[in-house]
Amino acid sequence: MRLDTLGVDESVSILFPPAALADELAFLPVSTTVVDGSGGELHGCQAVVTFRHWDAYDDLAWVHSIQSGVDQFPFDRLRAADVALTNSTGIHGDAIGEAVASYALAFSRRLHEHVANQQDATWSPPEWDEAWTVHGERACVLGLGTLGRGVVDRLTGLGVEVTGVRRTATPEPGVETVYTPAKLETAVSDARFVVAAVPLTDDTRGLIDADVLAAMREDAYLINVARGAVVDQSALIDAVNGGSIAGAALDVFETEPLPESSPLWGMDEVIVSPHCAGFTDRYHEHVGSIVAENVDRIRADEDLLNRVV
Ligand code: NAD
Repeated sequence: MRLDTLGVDESVSILFPPAALADELAFLPVSTTVVDGSGGELHGCQAVVTFRHWDAYDDLAWVHSIQSGVDQFPFDRLRAADVALTNSTGIHGDAIGEAVASYALAFSRRLHEHVANQQDATWSPPEWDEAWTVHGERACVLGLGTLGRGVVDRLTGLGVEVTGVRRTATPEPGVETVYTPAKLETAVSDARFVVAAVPLTDDTRGLIDADVLAAMREDAYLINVARGAVVDQSALIDAVNGGSIAGAALDVFETEPLPESSPLWGMDEVIVSPHCAGFTDRYHEHVGSIVAENVDRIRADEDLLNRVV
């Protein structure tokens, strides 16, 4: 693969300024330029780093996604056009692990309630039995990759017992029992927190459906940091409203931005965050290290790191 010009697409600005990544990559032995793929002008680049996919990418040799989830990319089209696609898995464990721990602690220490009360200057301590500690509680983590690992480390550090679900039931450090997806309902049935950390694939679309929600405890919280479509959102709303689970923290939604009309905005035991659980002020550095590694590999004619297509 020939690579002398690398583009940074304007669409990365959803996570960091394009120029910040271009600066980060300035030391590479290729020239780096900011491009706008939506207009189709790629300024002679053979590769781009991007958030979005654009049709103009058919003419490239390599596309790098700044996200871990690449469900928005047209795999068949890229394969047909002989374009390599790589992703940014491996960089989100710390941020997502801390975000999941924050949601869990917000529910147990009732922080979301205090923040809501603060909006109208209401002094309203919880009832004696409303606040609890996560220590000694159990969490079930679906997906034990980068995100899952970050979550397991944070939650076990807080004294939470963790079980997990992944495609093969091989043991994982810090995880007491690993279940396969066939045992999902059993896996979630004794957890206070169920954390979705799987990629969106044909197998995981709608994975957390009405039956899985019904198998959860009445005092359990669902935390979704994966993709909105992994959860049946209307079944989730029914489960929270009907009291069959206690609540949910959602960073991702079937439709993003979450429409103003969504009932989720107004639900007391639902925390909504705008797909930002993976944000950090060093995101561009983390992406930059994967891109730099792959530029080295291309120049050495080696296989790409994190290659998806
Ligand atoms: P990863 O590839 O490191 O890990 C994914 C894990 O899920 C793997 O261990 C895989 O074996 C497992 N898995 C796949 N299908 C499964 C199934 N059917 N049942 C159980 N386990 C299954 O990816 P990652 O970096 O951990 O990211 C996971 C997903 O989280 C991404 O694809 C993306 O959609 C989402 N994500 C969201 C944010 C955010 O900002 N909220 C940030 C990063 C990633």
